[in-house]
Amino acid sequence: MVSFKELGLVNTREMFAKAVKGGYAIPAFNFNNMEQLQAIIQAAAELRSPVILQVSKGARNYANQTLLRYMAQGAVEYAKELGWENPQIVLHLDHGDSFELCKSCVDFGFSSVMIDASSLPYEDNIALTKKVVDYAHQYDVTVEAELGVLAGVEEEVASEVSHYTKPEEVVDFATRTGCDSLAISIGTSHGAYKFKPEQCTRDPKTGRLVPPPLAFDVLKGVEEQLPGFPIVLHGSSSVPQEYVDMINKYGGKMPDAVGIPEEQLRLASKSAVCKINIDSDSRLAMTAAVRKDLYENPGHFDPRQYLKPARDEMKKMYIHKIVEVLGSDGKA
Ligand SMILES: [Zn+2]
Repeated sequence: MVSFKELGLVNTREMFAKAVKGGYAIPAFNFNNMEQLQAIIQAAAELRSPVILQVSKGARNYANQTLLRYMAQGAVEYAKELGWENPQIVLHLDHGDSFELCKSCVDFGFSSVMIDASSLPYEDNIALTKKVVDYAHQYDVTVEAELGVLAGVEEEVASEVSHYTKPEEVVDFATRTGCDSLAISIGTSHGAYKFKPEQCTRDPKTGRLVPPPLAFDVLKGVEEQLPGFPIVLHGSSSVPQEYVDMINKYGGKMPDAVGIPEEQLRLASKSAVCKINIDSDSRLAMTAAVRKDLYENPGHFDPRQYLKPARDEMKKMYIHKIVEVLGSDGKA
């Protein structure tokens, strides 16, 4: 048993309370590799932004859970080296799908876990979430739960349809489970193809897809039922068209990739939404930069040659999100 506190990590409790009060949101960035982690920590340390490092099932399969945990521990030390005296870094399990997995992360030094039982019937979701909460809280690890179903694909999390969260259920759910935060479904979606072209309109000037707006009425309904309770948005990459264009220009093929417009996320950040998950945008930044470098420099064969610009591009993207979208800079 390793406590996250020994690793210099923090849980989400205080961070979320401040974010809800302060009208901003904490970035939750997924990581699978060193360059991504360096970019996240550099951006957060320079801006003094609290940050949540997320580990998904796909990341665990790709990189190994043990290695990722030690990388997060290293990230805390790295942040201190960068001059961030008191780093506010959370290590969070993204989309935990069983009690055993959540328990193993709690025991191993994660400071926060998500139990996603949103695909189960309501009463089963409550029972499993409560079981995880009861265990995690013994060690002061915070728990995110989910109510409602998101559309789209996030690694092994796949759903064809989305079911908005029902505001009339949230008080009962939060009270009976004791969860610390709640991921809700208001129209965000996992992946780089969040909406089918037929769900969108097209901007006549640019020919770009314009996605349907988020269901802010549902968010408002949830906030009215649970005033001040920390709300989480998954699937909130904006799929920057500059990266899609770069990818397509340098040999890639990503037609009609579309995300959540940043002005809507900016609006959400000012509400009870206090954690916004961003994964695809980092993948796009990295791929765009790697493709460009290799296209322009056919002789490059040292991975450091093309991963350095990739890391720089990701850092630029993280800084942009923290400052221009979430407003979490200077809060840690
Ligand atoms: Zn998710």
